[in-house]
Amino acid sequence: MDEPISRDWHAVKDHSRSWQDLLYVYPVVSRRSGGLSIGVNLNPDKRCNFDCVYCEVDRRTPPRTTLLDLEVIRAELTVLVRAARLGELARHPKFAETGELTRRIRDIAFSGDGEPTMVPNFADCIQVAADVRRAEGLDETKLVLITDAAGLDKADVKRGLEILDANHGDIWAKLDAGTEAYYRLVNRSHVRFDRILANLLMTAKVRPIAIQTLFLKVHGEAMSAGELAAYCGRLQSLLEAGARIREVQAYTIARPTPEVWATKLDPDELNTTADIIRRETGLPVSVHT
Ligand code: SF4
Repeated sequence: MDEPISRDWHAVKDHSRSWQDLLYVYPVVSRRSGGLSIGVNLNPDKRCNFDCVYCEVDRRTPPRTTLLDLEVIRAELTVLVRAARLGELARHPKFAETGELTRRIRDIAFSGDGEPTMVPNFADCIQVAADVRRAEGLDETKLVLITDAAGLDKADVKRGLEILDANHGDIWAKLDAGTEAYYRLVNRSHVRFDRILANLLMTAKVRPIAIQTLFLKVHGEAMSAGELAAYCGRLQSLLEAGARIREVQAYTIARPTPEVWATKLDPDELNTTADIIRRETGLPVSVHT
């Protein structure tokens, strides 16, 4: 049976995307992953095609690098995988509470300081992780893409997704709104909302995906009943059109945001929202407070 993971553990609360002198790769103990997740930051330049009001990426501090060096990513990933399996992470003070959990690598997650699908050689990056996964015998380890879905229609990204599929892949794709207006309010992207929806459909017709939704308050107001109904309607439309949605991951703000008027939901509010989504869509909803 899996060991319980406390949200109060230092290693769970600290989701910093840097580890010692590594440029691209970092360890996180994640409740959503069920243990150790090794993050790969494909956006050290901090570029994103969204500008979410709740984004926690620190864009005031200059990047340590703006380049993607695939061989450095390969080397860093290998070093961190071995450090985890040999128990070196378990002995580090940051992971004092999580101990042996850090020996088992649940996933390698493309989740950085921006949107991973924006990089021009996305498929090559995924291939590097797949190579390390195979070379290190990580048969149980998933390769996870965490994405805002804006780039899922690009040819190179589709090639990358095929590599994911062949390597115990999973996709966690963002959908924070039911209407174009709310999408513009919360995600502040120049990408059209219907492109996001079309990308979700196209991707989820090929393999099951998880939808990640961050629920928040904007100027003290949670998502309205009408917006939530529209959001559930989008999920229903995706399902009716043939999308396979494994689950909805409902979460809220965990750390300070750049916009002080973007604030978190209380656990009760998030649970009530999750109940409505379950009732309206029939989908499993996991809640991450
Ligand atoms: S998609 Fe992610 S990285 Fe991009 S602005 Fe939103 S929260 Fe930040």
